[in-house]
Amino acid sequence: MKTNRRQLMKGALALSALSMASPGRAKAAETTSVTVIGGGLSGLNSALMLKDAGYDVIVLEASDRVGGRVYTADGVETRPEYGASQIGKSYARTISLCERFNLKLIPEHRKLMAMSNYVNGQWVKSTDWEHSEVNKTVGDERKIPPALLSSKILTGLNPLKSLTDWLDPQFSDYDISIYDLFKQHGVSEEAIRLASATTDIHTASALGLLQEKNRGLFDLAFTKDVQEAVDRPYGYGNGKGMSEGLALINNIEGGCSRLPEAMAAALGDSVRTGKMVRKINMSKTGAEVTCMDGSRFKSDYVISALPFSTLQYVSVFPDLQGKQAEGVFKLDYVDTSRAFGIIEEPFWEEDGFEPSFFSDETVQMFWALEKRPDEDKPRFMVVFTDAAASRIDQYSKQKALAVMEAEINRIRPATKGKLRFLDMYGWKNNPMIQGCRHMYSPGQINRFAREIVKPHYRLHFAGEHTRRNDFGMESALESGERAAFEIISLG
Ligand SMILES: Cc1cc2nc3c(=O)[nH]c(=O)nc-3n(C[C@H](O)[C@H](O)[C@H](O)COP(=O)(O)OP(=O)(O)OC[C@H]3O[C@@H](n4cnc5c(N)ncnc54)[C@H](O)[C@@H]3O)c2cc1C
Repeated sequence: MKTNRRQLMKGALALSALSMASPGRAKAAETTSVTVIGGGLSGLNSALMLKDAGYDVIVLEASDRVGGRVYTADGVETRPEYGASQIGKSYARTISLCERFNLKLIPEHRKLMAMSNYVNGQWVKSTDWEHSEVNKTVGDERKIPPALLSSKILTGLNPLKSLTDWLDPQFSDYDISIYDLFKQHGVSEEAIRLASATTDIHTASALGLLQEKNRGLFDLAFTKDVQEAVDRPYGYGNGKGMSEGLALINNIEGGCSRLPEAMAAALGDSVRTGKMVRKINMSKTGAEVTCMDGSRFKSDYVISALPFSTLQYVSVFPDLQGKQAEGVFKLDYVDTSRAFGIIEEPFWEEDGFEPSFFSDETVQMFWALEKRPDEDKPRFMVVFTDAAASRIDQYSKQKALAVMEAEINRIRPATKGKLRFLDMYGWKNNPMIQGCRHMYSPGQINRFAREIVKPHYRLHFAGEHTRRNDFGMESALESGERAAFEIISLG
């Protein structure tokens, strides 16, 4: 008897119903050319480049949204950015993607008001800091605001010239702690103490941070035609004549998340959210990726765009080896935690100190932010980095906000009743990322930084921690591009 098309369809449906109904049966694997794991900027960029080159791709993202460390809090009043927002003038890939997806770049809307200091229990205006008795730093250090000490001293000691110098063995002596580097160069005890308020001076490799300083200087080369000279929060000095940071910052209109969302939209149903990968198995002929929900994806190649902080929970077969395994299991991730709110009344008119402040106590930095054109009140951010961020993130959000508010009120009584806290976000508490960024410990660049990007069988590596030239969002895109090129070049 000849089987017609309808009977065939019925048979197929019955079979698939049977396979869904039978306990213990594995779900059928989907097949594609490349499986990309991680839907942050790096993974999305790899996928877009591969799709543009004619490859079938699937992106598996564990959380229910794309973007990872790009995260606009759309549901919160003032729509703060939990993660990245600032786009430097030399961010060629980021700017080009914004053009491709018709996203408008607007001037930075997080303009930091001048910063006073609360040091050793006393208030000092920024204009008085250099000659104040409270300032116990020495020589030229005295001119540096305490919040910038770590960054500015590092910039002054930076021997790197080209963007990849940090990987050149001739600079390997700089792969020591910031503390040791500062001691070698006679930095005063008080400058080291104040620097340690904003930077993990004992556990971070100086060479890793010098790479970022160098990238900041590169950005500055793009300011030749820029007339504006202002302080900006991310990297602080971003105007003409400043020595570091991003040259002239832009934001994306409507929030930074619009970029990964547009990239994901261009990839259509290739992007699967809610897919937490637990296993990558590779053979001579291909790879199979398995998610926590049992779904499986077969492909020729796999790109891991996961931070190493979470890749280390994924089973990889054949096992990662040698220095690459050491990198995946040992690379450290540091925290950033930020609270957001509204300044109901200009408290600085009461006590006469500048609105923003640095303190060497519980609250590291309070940023008062100028009003945006559409706002009638200034906003604020309370910013914690590194160990200070990990400390505050040990509390629940509610408790952390209460501690912060009480502490700000204690050291600066004029703020009482004038701050309205809206929200906070600590990146160590994001289980899919577990930190704001990677941070090489002393000696780790020499041990494994050169090796961690090398493909492992059919597995290629992307993510900001695998950067070679860039930093921030641009480094995530750079890494995604490199991994895509590696696969395309295999033919
Ligand atoms: C507070 C903060 C401020 C920043 N500010 C700036 C700035 O102003 N300018 C700038 O240029 N850069 C900034 N950055 C840096 C920038 O956000 C990052 O460099 C970049 O977004 C990293 O992208 P990524 O793709 O490498 O990683 P991620 O964005 O972390 O993406 C990794 C993805 O993998 C997913 N994932 C994890 N585990 C699994 C799993 N098992 N299976 C599937 N998926 C998984 C995660 O959910 C995540 O979406 C900031 C970052 C932070 C945290």
